[in-house]
Amino acid sequence: MGVTAPDAPRPPSVERLLAAARSDVGVREHLALVAAARDEIAAERARLAAGQRPRPIAVIAEALIARLALFESPSEPRLVINATGVLIHTNLGRATWPRAAIRAAEAAASGPLFLELDPRTGRRGRRFPAAEEHLVALTGSEDALVTNNCAAALVLAVGLAGRKGVVVGRGELVEIGGGVRIPEIVRRAGARLIEVGTTNRTRVADYEAPLRDGAATMVLRVHPSNFTQSGFTEAPNAAELATLAHAHSAVVVDDLGSGALLDTASFGLAHEPMPAERLAAGADLVLFSGDKLVGGPQAGLVVGRADLVARLRKDPLARAMRPDKTTLAAVAATLGLYRAGVATREIPVWQTIAVPAEMLRARADALTAQLSDATTAALLATVGGGSLPGETLPSFGLALAERSAASANRLLDALRTGVPAVLGRIEGGRVVLDLRTVDPAADQELGQAVSAAMSAVGIAG
Ligand SMILES: *Cc1c(COP(=O)(O)O)cnc(C)c1O
Repeated sequence: MGVTAPDAPRPPSVERLLAAARSDVGVREHLALVAAARDEIAAERARLAAGQRPRPIAVIAEALIARLALFESPSEPRLVINATGVLIHTNLGRATWPRAAIRAAEAAASGPLFLELDPRTGRRGRRFPAAEEHLVALTGSEDALVTNNCAAALVLAVGLAGRKGVVVGRGELVEIGGGVRIPEIVRRAGARLIEVGTTNRTRVADYEAPLRDGAATMVLRVHPSNFTQSGFTEAPNAAELATLAHAHSAVVVDDLGSGALLDTASFGLAHEPMPAERLAAGADLVLFSGDKLVGGPQAGLVVGRADLVARLRKDPLARAMRPDKTTLAAVAATLGLYRAGVATREIPVWQTIAVPAEMLRARADALTAQLSDATTAALLATVGGGSLPGETLPSFGLALAERSAASANRLLDALRTGVPAVLGRIEGGRVVLDLRTVDPAADQELGQAVSAAMSAVGIAG
């Protein structure tokens, strides 16, 4: 009947609990203490409802103090050893920042800085201009703008079309990832999508009609960054398309996704489009990501015509998409490494691309010598993160104990849930750990984690 028996145990009141904890909580704000005490009491009530025995009040008080301590010094985000062989792994946070970027972000967070104040005049100035100055110098553009990410830059750029039409080739109506699709972005930006061409073949001539009759004021190119097309395919030449668009006073926006500031072809990969090339081919605005092949923080990098960048900067939406000071400082520091000519040496993404496979083999041999039931395996790493789909880099790593598919899955789980967490993949029924994506400084830790995981699933480590 919902009537509590008179002798049913009840959790303590907030007052009693706080009195019991008083000597150990230190000086804290009263509201926070009450909230934490209520949470701890609710937890006790749930235990009692589940039929558990009441905890002495001193024990509940200890739990309260532990709860407060955890809020005060939260555990850091759990770092993972990425042995997947996917260099830019979106689910693992994409690019690892260069040291210079980490230092710059920390400095920017540590105190007041000249963020939007010009030190020479003492007046309001452009917000953190260093990142934009680097972009101009690196791409030869007239001006540049940094947004929160490339998707934000795309929404902002498409907004230039107003309610007019934006022409996109059917082969470029892609889904970027996470269910985000180009047609929806164009519509949400308020523009009208005009599709031309076919899935596999789109020619410059296909763009002519909507441009000639004035239905479209923008041509949007979207780099097919996460899939490849082969067979009977054709894509328009960038320069010819730009010439056509300009003849009809339309602007060309080129969404590169990743974009590269070094030539990937010199690392044995296919050539990933570079922003400077697209500007040279007539694009009016080129958009790319900060945390893909650029190898820095999440950001959208916009380069191109000064008048268009000025319009983007003035758009009220730009305010909603602007990065904070730590990101801007880290973007500037990352771009500075390209200008200094030390990107391959200092930016982790390029380090992992550039490391010779033979060095990976030597590291794998050193690890397998310490582990039983692990052998050195030749592997193929991929760039990932919406860059160079289908392209691979020769790599080496560990192949662990071949047993059954079930044991390979259990081993993969044990590695992922271990400390440190190790992410690998299954290939040919075996767990493989690709060393191209692992920092050499983490090799020893990786070896220990492998041993522990193999013992945990009953394979000798
Ligand atoms: C990845 C990607 C984006 C989105 O970039 P974010 O920086 O993740 O917002 C946009 N367009 C293309 C073609 C991409 O590959």
